[in-house]
Amino acid sequence: MDHVVGLKCTICGKEYAPGEVEYICPDHGDDGNLDVLYDYDRIADRVSKTGLADVTGIWRYKALMPIDIDAPVPPLVVGATPLYRVDNVAQQIGAGQVWIKDDGRNPTASLKDRASALIVARAGVEGRDLVTTASTGNAAAALAGVAASVQMPTVIFVPASAPPAKITQLLVYGANVLLVDGTYDDAFELCLKATHKYGWYCRNTGYNPYTAEGKKTVSYEICEQLADRPGQFSAPDTILVSVGDGNIISGVHKGLRDLLALGWIDKMPRLIGVQAEGSAAMYKAWKEGINPAKMEPIDAQTVADSISAGLPRDRVKAMRAVTETGGAYITVSDDEIIAAIPKLAQMSGVFAEPAASAAYAGLLKASGLGMFSADERIVVLSTGNGLKDIASAQKSVRQAPKIAPTLDEVDRIISEII
Ligand SMILES: [Zn+2]
Repeated sequence: MDHVVGLKCTICGKEYAPGEVEYICPDHGDDGNLDVLYDYDRIADRVSKTGLADVTGIWRYKALMPIDIDAPVPPLVVGATPLYRVDNVAQQIGAGQVWIKDDGRNPTASLKDRASALIVARAGVEGRDLVTTASTGNAAAALAGVAASVQMPTVIFVPASAPPAKITQLLVYGANVLLVDGTYDDAFELCLKATHKYGWYCRNTGYNPYTAEGKKTVSYEICEQLADRPGQFSAPDTILVSVGDGNIISGVHKGLRDLLALGWIDKMPRLIGVQAEGSAAMYKAWKEGINPAKMEPIDAQTVADSISAGLPRDRVKAMRAVTETGGAYITVSDDEIIAAIPKLAQMSGVFAEPAASAAYAGLLKASGLGMFSADERIVVLSTGNGLKDIASAQKSVRQAPKIAPTLDEVDRIISEII
């Protein structure tokens, strides 16, 4: 893995050699998330954009990831999710092009599979025999599913309030699930304590530096899918990403930085972070100019459970993703998030969970704020599948009519509804 040259603290800037520290910079308690540094010249010597691995999914980009090129990887096909052009939406908001990246199409139905696949691969390389994580649900399901594919045991800490579908997913995959009577932040702290005590390998977001390195593959895919020809990359103008812990927008940013450093794209897209009004720690800090390293926790409450985070764990990188790209943070209400589920579904055929529809709600909000130009090429990242949280989806639609099994009844109803 000589293409990885170090790990750099996002708070104090101190650099560590690979393997010198496992998770975070030791100078800041449980903070001090690390950025993985690469030797891009070495990567460029080994792989070109037209010579990427001919495999389906994220391991196509293995040469750009923190793992040896010949290291074994989990067999689940992660990534290679569709990117849909939705001209009806572009027309509606007066933008050049709008694209929906449907990452709910991953094996466990969320973008988090990208991180978990890399984490499980690294755990295997390092000879670890158990992986743990705290999660609002999706990262846990992703870890449980990918770990199951290589028969690696997991211990999962989730808030007891997580949607039943997500908890059921964990149990079906055979994870050892602990339902924490508290918030995601409580589950996170508890998971760290258990990690320290039992010596497990910890996947926690914003703690393990490699989660964003898996998530960054979504940017590679977006840019490759937007290009006119195979083996080429083309950056959009703007990407909208829903933000809770901030690790996805950090990953999206990292992927774009990689591509820019390699010269595979020629510009950095603007990143717009979308937060729920009730869980808007990043938005508030951005608006008030607060140093993300010094943010205080807020009381987070939103229907979009996957982006409910009182103290975003990857806040330093998440702030950088917006400020270094000329982007912005915006907020959307829970009502807008719920309403966006059928809006997105009916404009594109993509069924998103609340945390994912938040990004689409953000598109509509940003459009109303005049944030897009008439020739802008915009990507909306849909991070999780709507079947993950049916209770929320049910709130967004009317009940279907119940009828007697006669054609007369059909006649009566059809004349009313069509
Ligand atoms: Zn540090």
